[in-house]
Amino acid sequence: KHSLSTASHLRRIGVMGGTFDPIHYGHLLAAEEAYFSLGLSEVLFVPTGLPPHKNRQQVSLAEDRYTMTLLATVDNPHFKISRLEIDREGTSHTVDTLREMRHWYPAGSVTFYFITGLDAVLDIHNWKEPEEIVSLCKIVAVSRPGYNPHRLEDLPPSIRRAVIPLEIPHLAISSTEIRRRVGQGRSIRYLTPWPVEHYIYKKALYHRRNGW
Ligand code: ATP
Ligand code: MG
Repeated sequence: KHSLSTASHLRRIGVMGGTFDPIHYGHLLAAEEAYFSLGLSEVLFVPTGLPPHKNRQQVSLAEDRYTMTLLATVDNPHFKISRLEIDREGTSHTVDTLREMRHWYPAGSVTFYFITGLDAVLDIHNWKEPEEIVSLCKIVAVSRPGYNPHRLEDLPPSIRRAVIPLEIPHLAISSTEIRRRVGQGRSIRYLTPWPVEHYIYKKALYHRRNGW
């Protein structure tokens, strides 16, 4: 009917991509802040398959990373998870994921907001088809300790135009640091939700691995 405005059909979907090895409060806070600041309908967490820039021995099984993402997000009604990348053969590229996700919705009915930390955005020239990515989504660049937001101005203008900087409380947490701590027998309490912590211990993840 005419009483339904077009705007009510527009969905703003946050996409939070990551290796999530493991997921931690930095990821969850970024997604939650983007959800409220940008008035998103939901945030879709998309654990990567085999990430293009990391090799197989250094990354936990996709099923374990998926399960930890599920455990960490289960108590938040506006967080969802997609198996799209982990069920796909081979490496996943953001551009391919966004292209595929676009077909899930009627044409023109959705805007994607790809949520990334500043470190990842500043590396965007190394991603596959950055110009195509910014034609498919807006990029939400959340602050991350150690990265200066002024560096966004160094991006090519065509990319910079698609970037929405978002200041969030700085959490100096990384998956690398969590893996290192587990390997050293140090506590990871309060860095990631407790079900994730217990899953890591139960599956004996991050023990005696090379490079950590
Ligand atoms: P690793 O140390 O293995 O690279 P990570 O902590 O950087 O892990 P990723 O899975 O690589 O986590 O990151 C997924 C996304 O989340 C990236 O866009 C990254 O910039 C962002 N992110 C990760 N940690 C934080 C944090 N503490 N604050 C803000 N953004 C973060
Ligand atoms: Mg990272």
